[in-house]
Amino acid sequence: MNESAHVVLVGYGEMGTKSSSVRAKMEVRLRENLQAVLDDRSLSGRVEREWSRLLVRDTDDPEAVAAACAEVPGVVWARPSVVCDPTLDEIVAVCRDLAADHPADASFAIDEDRVGPKDAHDFSGRDIAREAGSAVVEVTGAPVDLDDPEVTYRVECREDAAYVSVRRFDGPGGLPLGTQGKAVVLISGGIDSPVAAWEMMRRGCEIVPVYVDLGDYGGADHRARALETVRTIARRAPNFDLRVHVVPGDDVVQRLMDTIEDTRMLSLRRVMLSIAATVAEDEHAHSIVTGESLGQKSSQTGENIAVTEAAVDYPVHRPLFTRDKTDIVTEAREIGTYDDSTLPVGCERVAPSFPETNASLSAVQAAEPDDLFELAAEAARNRRLVSVSQD
Ligand code: ATP
Ligand code: MG
Repeated sequence: MNESAHVVLVGYGEMGTKSSSVRAKMEVRLRENLQAVLDDRSLSGRVEREWSRLLVRDTDDPEAVAAACAEVPGVVWARPSVVCDPTLDEIVAVCRDLAADHPADASFAIDEDRVGPKDAHDFSGRDIAREAGSAVVEVTGAPVDLDDPEVTYRVECREDAAYVSVRRFDGPGGLPLGTQGKAVVLISGGIDSPVAAWEMMRRGCEIVPVYVDLGDYGGADHRARALETVRTIARRAPNFDLRVHVVPGDDVVQRLMDTIEDTRMLSLRRVMLSIAATVAEDEHAHSIVTGESLGQKSSQTGENIAVTEAAVDYPVHRPLFTRDKTDIVTEAREIGTYDDSTLPVGCERVAPSFPETNASLSAVQAAEPDDLFELAAEAARNRRLVSVSQD
């Protein structure tokens, strides 16, 4: 078997249910996104569209390519695969070769799919399972377990070629990035907001990260963490602009500290949303996203969220709204943002001793100084764009 006989098959899920024209557009987008990730990581390979999936050819490291593909939104699985002629003998020979690396005593199954007209092959799917299974038993002596195998030999036999693989890398699913418009994401450098950002990306939405620098109430360490978390998720989308909009929030926060006590945090949230709305308008984004989760903090009770959300006309999405912190932490570890985000976020230094948990909009508005949202707009106008691309 030579090197060119290796490819990586990439499978997707939900986009397969779309009309053929929508699916074709999404496939083109996913192809571009995958190629960008491979190029960015200096992995050899050419991503091509073929039947209802994508396939990477000409790679000298199929395992690394499959692992990289499995990080990209829209991908359900990636499999390093051996390509051979669609004959029973060839398929069995490939399975026999692959069985040389079979872990000792690990149970296995053959999962076969023969695709095409009945007379395309002079053997059935069942023949593949029987013959390939016998070959693997011959080489390994391993037990067959059709219900819960430790190793699955996946054989996909098409008219023009057959593909055999033993390793499957699970992807995030979702939709290709760039197919669901743009959203502004408020990124704090805490654990939650990068996960919320990633959830939007996973669903195909381009993100515009906004960090509000709280001056002495935040600090350089918070800004660095916010940038670092964006840098980590940006690795999965190198062909998108994920520069962070850093907004100087010190004046507006100082005004809040000087003028409001119990409802200060809510007004701070309102200010942040209002800043995000200004950026959304400039960037043609359709919505604002936060890492808020119901009841996680006093500013995140249902009543208080209703009050903060009233500050803007844009829809505010909260992908983590019903998630427990333990789940969010698990996901942050999976996507690699956890380590960058384990210090408490700066706005905790703004929190009053007895925060209001059931505020009314009129009371919050009454406590706000007249120029609060003008200051917020000015801060948004004075934002800087900070690159997070790898050096
Ligand atoms: P943590 O893991 O500490 O909860 P967090 O990022 O969720 O981190 P919260 O205090 O819960 O922080 O803030 C709620 C949401 O408000 C965040 O998810 C984020 O979307 C937004 N946010 C908070 N602070 C900032 C900030 N300095 N700049 C931009 N957005 C912020
Ligand atoms: Mg939070």
